[in-house]
Amino acid sequence: MVFQSLAEKLQSALDKLKGKGKLTEKDVKAALREVKMALLEADVNFKVVKDFVKKIQERAVGHEVMESLTPGQQVIKIVNDELTQLMGGTQSKLTVASKPPTVVMLVGLQGAGKTTTCGKLARVLEKQGRRPLLVAADIYRPAAIKQLQVLGERLDIPVFSMGDQTNPIDIAKGALSYAESHGRDYLIIDTAGRLHINEELMNELKEIKAAVKPHEILLVVDAMTGQDAVNVAEKFDEALGIDGVILTKLDGDARGGAALSIRAVTGKPIKFVGMGEKLDALEPFHPDRMASRILGMGDVLSLIEKAQQSIDLKKAQELERKLKKQEFTLEDFLEQMKQVRNMGPLDQLLGMIPGMGKVKHLKNLQVDEKALDHIEAIINSMTIEERRNPDIINGSRRRRIARGSGTSVQEVNRVLKQFNQLRKMMKQLNDMQKGGKFGRFPF
Ligand code: GDP
Repeated sequence: MVFQSLAEKLQSALDKLKGKGKLTEKDVKAALREVKMALLEADVNFKVVKDFVKKIQERAVGHEVMESLTPGQQVIKIVNDELTQLMGGTQSKLTVASKPPTVVMLVGLQGAGKTTTCGKLARVLEKQGRRPLLVAADIYRPAAIKQLQVLGERLDIPVFSMGDQTNPIDIAKGALSYAESHGRDYLIIDTAGRLHINEELMNELKEIKAAVKPHEILLVVDAMTGQDAVNVAEKFDEALGIDGVILTKLDGDARGGAALSIRAVTGKPIKFVGMGEKLDALEPFHPDRMASRILGMGDVLSLIEKAQQSIDLKKAQELERKLKKQEFTLEDFLEQMKQVRNMGPLDQLLGMIPGMGKVKHLKNLQVDEKALDHIEAIINSMTIEERRNPDIINGSRRRRIARGSGTSVQEVNRVLKQFNQLRKMMKQLNDMQKGGKFGRFPF
């Protein structure tokens, strides 16, 4: 889970303050020592940690905290505020040019996730009603152009390319006039990366910058590289000037050092974070929500937004109607499961629910995505008639379904049992609401 190890240590340090009716300066200092250790172990920049802890200490041992009825909660609130500030305070949005197209240039080292992120970003913009154009200006990495074209095809977003024999500056210029004449309002330029920063790379990027005057230069860095990511950000900013950062692979980053240091060290905001390899796994970065995730307070707002984006309201209403009328079938069961899965990996979703990290048996929960795949396969192996009327699924049908889905009869039985339980539960709820045999509500 994102920031898991940092989150656990910070929460354990702060938990010690929570229950106390009265706090001494010594209590606070001891907790802050642990906070400091946790941040250093998370690979947060040393100077950033020092300033951060100092600020909290100054605020936390103040009068209003120590004298308050819930001093522990007050300290946690201060840590939450300061964490939010550390990551930039408020969300930093993507620029919109007053006269389209808005030109966005993505830069970064090889392997950071630049090309993938170009596709993800184009998808985000398209969902907002924009008309992006992807530009293949990385002519050196073999297959980079092809990779972008494949992404474009999958997303149904046009890709501008002039092959790998034209220089990137001319490609960028060509793309700009293409966008102007074809009504594309965002240009997303995928530039070349290298394994290390070198002058040649920087010069080329500077020339592209001079040629198309981007409204945003976004640096793509890999969160898992920790302080290296911060160093790369400093160097790119010095040499080229960047407007913001996209931090990729945060889904695999249990420590969080880069996310917590980049803003403080470079002064440049994180605008988006990559949360997985899939094309829908790019999220706008909200410092306040991230702070609250780290402190185990959940991120209900992001969860709701995800639900709004991926759950089809019409289908949800139809489902509700069917449940009420007892017309709920295995087809609907499958549909519902797919919609929830569209929201993203389940362990990421659980991390957004307040207090979820604390529930002991959920803490190390490895959500069994495979089991969900099996359920999908099982339902997919049924005939339409079977899905609509599961009662006809006898022994030989069960064996056929198990074979067809590559699972076992036991698994098929389990799915049918779960479905029947759900149906029974819905019926009971329905009876209660109708004021049936239980009366209106039994409580
Ligand atoms: P480039 O060389 O910077 O253009 O990097 P690519 O776009 O080719 O990405 C390198 C690898 O990182 C690919 O395998 C991507 O699928 C993977 N990747 C990119 N972003 C993310 C992310 O947010 N999370 C995870 N887990 N993988 C990512």
